[in-house]
Amino acid sequence: MDYKAIIFDLDGTLIDHTGAARVAARTWARELGFHGDHTSRWFEIERRWFAAYERGTVSHLEQRRGRTREFTGEHTLTDSACDELFGRFLSLYREAWTAFPDAEPALRRALGSGARVAILTNSVAEVQSAKLQRTGLDLPGVRLLASGDLGVAKPRPECYRKALELLDVTPGETVMIGDSFANDVAGPRRVGMTAVWLNRDGLAAIDGENGLSSLAGFPHL
Ligand SMILES: [Mg+2]
Repeated sequence: MDYKAIIFDLDGTLIDHTGAARVAARTWARELGFHGDHTSRWFEIERRWFAAYERGTVSHLEQRRGRTREFTGEHTLTDSACDELFGRFLSLYREAWTAFPDAEPALRRALGSGARVAILTNSVAEVQSAKLQRTGLDLPGVRLLASGDLGVAKPRPECYRKALELLDVTPGETVMIGDSFANDVAGPRRVGMTAVWLNRDGLAAIDGENGLSSLAGFPHL
């Protein structure tokens, strides 16, 4: 089947977010005076706050501040102190960004198919476009759609509908590929899109789904 639009997720799909965040969290924790490995604690805090953002309970900025207060254990930190501390984490995270080796070939194949190609990501455009530039994935013709600009995040149906509207395509003409089953597979399917699960980490099957282990295996391009 030829799709009129192919939409990729960014973090964990094209960019190794976890690897970069792990490197950044390790250095940041050390700078904050923590001893030992605090990366799993940081990821657990991130998961919880980011889920609250995806539910629409807190804003993107609030989840950053919440994570900073919880991680440092300093619950009385002012917003600006949180922003400054989180800014340091972000710069360490930026330095560690890398694209998965199959990301650029997959984007090029998608573009070569003649489809509209976009990246739909739960973050702010400023960070995500810098990520694309830094990793060489800012290919002409690839459109960046960030939840921060759309005003609604995956997996809320309105997020996909807004993306489809901006790309001027119908759900039936569109396929989404991503590593999050909830955000990149179940959510898109709920609005009528086709979706393919990129299961890079070999997670146990969800709902009987067999994911792809790499973008090179994506059969529809
Ligand atoms: Mg992802």
